[in-house]
Amino acid sequence: MNTTKTIVIALGGNALLDPQTNGSLAEQIRAIERSCEKIAQVIAKGYRVVLTHGNGPQVGNLLIQQEAAKELVPPLPLDVCDAMTQGQLGYLIQQQLREALLRVGLAKPVVTMVTQVQVDPNDPAFANPTKPIGPFYSERERPVLEQKGYVLKRVGKGAKPWRRVVASPEPKEIVEIESIKELIDAGSIVIACGGGGVPIVCEDGRWRGVEAVIDKDLASALLASELGAQILLILTDVERVALHFGTPQQVFLDKLSVREARKYLSEGHFPAGSMGPKVEAAIRFIEGGGERAYITSLEKALEALEGRAGTEVH
Ligand code: ADP
Ligand code: MG
Repeated sequence: MNTTKTIVIALGGNALLDPQTNGSLAEQIRAIERSCEKIAQVIAKGYRVVLTHGNGPQVGNLLIQQEAAKELVPPLPLDVCDAMTQGQLGYLIQQQLREALLRVGLAKPVVTMVTQVQVDPNDPAFANPTKPIGPFYSERERPVLEQKGYVLKRVGKGAKPWRRVVASPEPKEIVEIESIKELIDAGSIVIACGGGGVPIVCEDGRWRGVEAVIDKDLASALLASELGAQILLILTDVERVALHFGTPQQVFLDKLSVREARKYLSEGHFPAGSMGPKVEAAIRFIEGGGERAYITSLEKALEALEGRAGTEVH
């Protein structure tokens, strides 16, 4: 029997691009190189790793390019841009992870699966956009953008608090799941469900992309459950989940049960646009038969797996 544990690692925004930088290709590669170094350490410990990642900044930027060049080239819709970010980020991760693995003496194939994820065409999320994508905007830029048809939401503080939001329906089924399993069984490190997967709906037996961005943490939980993975590791930019986050009463949690997680979630400790879906993903994974779920920072990935950092949901 194969006793190797399978981990689905979900990479957050910071693992792909440092928000303090200008977002150039060189900056993206630098961030991805750093992340791959950490992932290679986990693989070197003997875990079988499957990677997922977000795409909020990248897909928003791609949409801006579509719009800016629309007189020159026919613009592509959001679902196609979702697929493009899977290729863009998957390609960069493939290169950097291969090199990071070689540095720790491992030669393993790293492959990206363009992943489609089925959603419900009647999902209420289509009428209520919540997923922030692309750059942040100031109050002054707002009217012009809203005239273009953007739905904007105040997501931050400071000079540029606004961000475009798009629909984020629930992931229901991963279309390429069997192929992903085959690649994993063949010994590949697979990057799948990038940006939450490309949302598709089935109409009269045919698949059609829809303009939305699925939450990557919820897609990761679904992927991890369907793969029968033992561990879900959600990497973001905080080392631990907190109660009363950002207030003087803040307390960081090192362990929490599914029941406690549900209670704190309903009490509003974990906001919808950030920590909420991560905690929800951890809950769903454990309820679906997963052994352990962790939420931590990229830096603490390995320590979390060894029980020395991060927040464990059990
Ligand atoms: P990512 O882009 O890495 O997937 P987000 O940026 O959406 O993740 O969410 C992570 C952020 O959530 C953290 O950087 C932190 O600022 C914020 N956050 C909100 N509530 C909490 C909480 N209760 N505990 C910890 N972090 C929280
Ligand atoms: Mg983020």
